[in-house]
Amino acid sequence: MDAADPLAQCRARFVLPEGVIYLDGNSLGALPVATAGRVAETVERQWGTDLIASWNTHGWIDAPARLGARIAPLIGAGADEVIVADSTSANLFKLLVAACEARSGQSTILTEAGNFPTDLYVAQGVAATLPGRRVHAASDVAAAIDADTAVVLLTHVHYKSGAMLDMAAITAAAQAAGALVLWDLSHSVGAIEIDLNGCGADLAVGCGYKYLNGGPGAPAFLYVARALQEGLQSPLTGWMGHAAPFDFSDDYAAAPGMKRFLCGTPPILGMAALEAGLDTFDGVTMDAVVAKSRALSALLIAGIDARCPALTLVSPRDAAVRGSHVSVAHDHAWEICQALIARGVVGDFRAPDVLRLGLTALYTSFEDVWRAVEIIADVLAHESWRDPAYAVRAAVT
Ligand SMILES: *Cc1c(COP(=O)(O)O)cnc(C)c1O
Repeated sequence: MDAADPLAQCRARFVLPEGVIYLDGNSLGALPVATAGRVAETVERQWGTDLIASWNTHGWIDAPARLGARIAPLIGAGADEVIVADSTSANLFKLLVAACEARSGQSTILTEAGNFPTDLYVAQGVAATLPGRRVHAASDVAAAIDADTAVVLLTHVHYKSGAMLDMAAITAAAQAAGALVLWDLSHSVGAIEIDLNGCGADLAVGCGYKYLNGGPGAPAFLYVARALQEGLQSPLTGWMGHAAPFDFSDDYAAAPGMKRFLCGTPPILGMAALEAGLDTFDGVTMDAVVAKSRALSALLIAGIDARCPALTLVSPRDAAVRGSHVSVAHDHAWEICQALIARGVVGDFRAPDVLRLGLTALYTSFEDVWRAVEIIADVLAHESWRDPAYAVRAAVT
């Protein structure tokens, strides 16, 4: 399968340590080979030699829009509909407030119970900040949409289960009720096919350090459908979102287009690393990424079914409604995860009982998956996870 893999040569674009099978690119993408040199060039030659002139001569000031335009084709958006800025959490805040203000006659932010924590917490903060707003976290979101729904906030691929929601159907249902929809693409961008324009999506945010390989804490992105841009107002009216920041006017005037969703000065070192991360998608179609992701997941699920009866599959079996990670449950998932890391198989744990195994089409090989299954089966069969050393919980799981 590796010999027949059209993406096999992409693995050479990454630094992957010897003896490690890395199945956590859904949480922190692997380091691209080009990143260290790109960051060093930005630090030493641009910052070190050309100093402040670099804002103009090295395109620093244009980085948010330039990188946004490179993410656009990965998510089915126009180049002028995406901009890179801030963190996913901060972008959620900006777009949720803007959307609530645009639907001032409706009071509910509707989201999914069990959504990613930052999405829930930011929604709660927005409701506490804007008078008369409330958050409703429903288990069946589609059924809970009503005339009072201002915004539907959903994560496209669930961080824990890997289940994918029907973006087109939910978007259409919300819009028919007069609501806006805000999609969090953190677990889908760079991993699965996304067609924001084709689904008529209103708003989206997403993460730069997962499948986009931008490095720890990489800048995030936001998307606003072209037709909505001029009607929405960011609540974080910083100078970089001003129509003419270098006029130094006393009064705020929103920039046209996506720039109004910028706030402060872009983090250029992080942008340089993210740009190197986006380069890892050069010449790669999302069709090829999806086909390989599904083949990798099928091999992993077949191996777990056949060799690991102690594990319960949490992710959907149907690849059409699954993202690019496979989650399994076990009462001792934390200890199993640590025992696997000690054997070179790096996945991660999500409380209370989920082990996540991420498949990244650009650098996971079929041999990786095959060998990982062997090691998982061995750790379970011999219960080596019972070693007390594996019981200690770390700060980051
Ligand atoms: C990873 C992730 C985030 C990350 O938010 P940060 O602001 O970068 O910490 C947000 N939402 C979802 C669904 C995620 O998976």
